[in-house]
Amino acid sequence: MSFIVQKYGGSSVADLERVRHVAFRVKQYWELGHQLVVVVSAMGKTTDQLLHMAFEVHPRPPERELDMLLATGEQISVSLLSITLDALGIDSISLTGGQAGIITSDFYTRAKILRIHSARIRSHLAEGKVVIVAGFQGKTSNEDITTLGRGGSDATACALAAALGADFCEIFTDVNGVFTADPRIVSQARKIHRISYDEMAEMASLGARVLQLRAVDFSQKYGVRVHVRSTFSEEEGTWVEEVDTMEEVKVRAITHSRDLVKVVLLGVPNEPGVAARIFKVLAENMVSVDMIIQSEGSEAQNQKDFAFVVSKEDERKTRGALSDLGRVLLFQGQKFDDSVTRVSVVGVGIMSDSSIAHRIFRILGKCGINIDMISTSNLRISCLIPAERMEDAVRALHGEFLEDEEVTLNEDF
Ligand code: ASP
Ligand code: MG
Repeated sequence: MSFIVQKYGGSSVADLERVRHVAFRVKQYWELGHQLVVVVSAMGKTTDQLLHMAFEVHPRPPERELDMLLATGEQISVSLLSITLDALGIDSISLTGGQAGIITSDFYTRAKILRIHSARIRSHLAEGKVVIVAGFQGKTSNEDITTLGRGGSDATACALAAALGADFCEIFTDVNGVFTADPRIVSQARKIHRISYDEMAEMASLGARVLQLRAVDFSQKYGVRVHVRSTFSEEEGTWVEEVDTMEEVKVRAITHSRDLVKVVLLGVPNEPGVAARIFKVLAENMVSVDMIIQSEGSEAQNQKDFAFVVSKEDERKTRGALSDLGRVLLFQGQKFDDSVTRVSVVGVGIMSDSSIAHRIFRILGKCGINIDMISTSNLRISCLIPAERMEDAVRALHGEFLEDEEVTLNEDF
């Protein structure tokens, strides 16, 4: 018998038939005698629809009110699941994030979990109940409802697993696990059986949507083993855990992200402290930035150009932050370009083998794909390329690094 925290994503509870299917899965575990805390996301596209309504009536909805609104999505799915379980004769109780004891900061729409008072969950478990917790939400110490940022149900599940000392955390989704590339793009993509927290965190930050980055960070910090698997199959998925270095492979996966915008600031004064002022404002607005490049601008006017990449989700905030800076003349002009995609080669061995960078650039060159920006970390090399070539790039890189390990370098190219 194990103590398991499970999380079912929005597509797993998209309609009543699926809610029933989830209830049957919960029943299977329950009949085996496992103790269960079940975290659920909002049904299907509910969160998007709620957001859309708010923006229909207000260009910049007050964030506290947005959280009141968004948190209702998960309240629907947890109560429906509990009602469905009751119909199957299983004793359960649904709780909002606040009722479950999840206390957060008051940074509305992206609140941080500060602590979890687990007494209530524990006492319901002791009564033999399945405890169903609304994902993606908590409350401040002033009883205000908060949400944890998009995809935040993963963070709820992993944080609860850590706080309650669960044996492991299962993330049920609509794919069979984490793959070496998106199987819809690369037919040869394989499921990864075990992946390290570091690699999973890198993939999450690069746009792999199966597991939210904060959830990976939580799990790593508290040593929670995470099993990412499909709601719709019994198949074993991917285990995210500490991986023995002996098993490490150089390249683990090829990821891509379409949801990006390239921002160019033209005519930035070439003086100490200017970059700090620009990025301070972005940081204050919680915009995360990738691939920062400073290039030659106008020499005569002693100006530089800056380019960087932000997520589409952050575009609105970025524009807002930059309009304040433009007013104090920190740059002369700006351009936003959303016709770009980032493809990345991820793996622990990337930085120790300089031939990998060469092979990436050679393959993209061979495909006639122009690289606009490049960024690297210990665990990845990313290239910004035209969006319409993304699929070609992902397939070619997967072929190079993940289909035939014996590939030899063609120095003639
Ligand atoms: N319902 C929220 C969202 O769509 C949280 C989640 O699904 O994890 O972002
Ligand atoms: Mg999700």
